[in-house]
Amino acid sequence: MSEQERVKESAAENHLLCLKCNAAMEQQKTSFTYLGFNFEASLPRCPVCGQVYISEDIVKGKIKEVETLLEDK
Ligand SMILES: [Zn+2]
Repeated sequence: MSEQERVKESAAENHLLCLKCNAAMEQQKTSFTYLGFNFEASLPRCPVCGQVYISEDIVKGKIKEVETLLEDK
């Protein structure tokens, strides 16, 4: 099984592995910047190297939140 397949399989079980360290990622409240916006979300983070996994769903949801906030102003 390739590394890529193993990560995909783990993600399906909601248990992500860091590509670099092969360590189990832990949910952690993390701030990140995307498209110039600052977000805070609970994201899987590697306890070894600090790599954060940001899924497309999280980004899309957060972008929508920001867009709604901007429209309300
Ligand atoms: Zn790592």
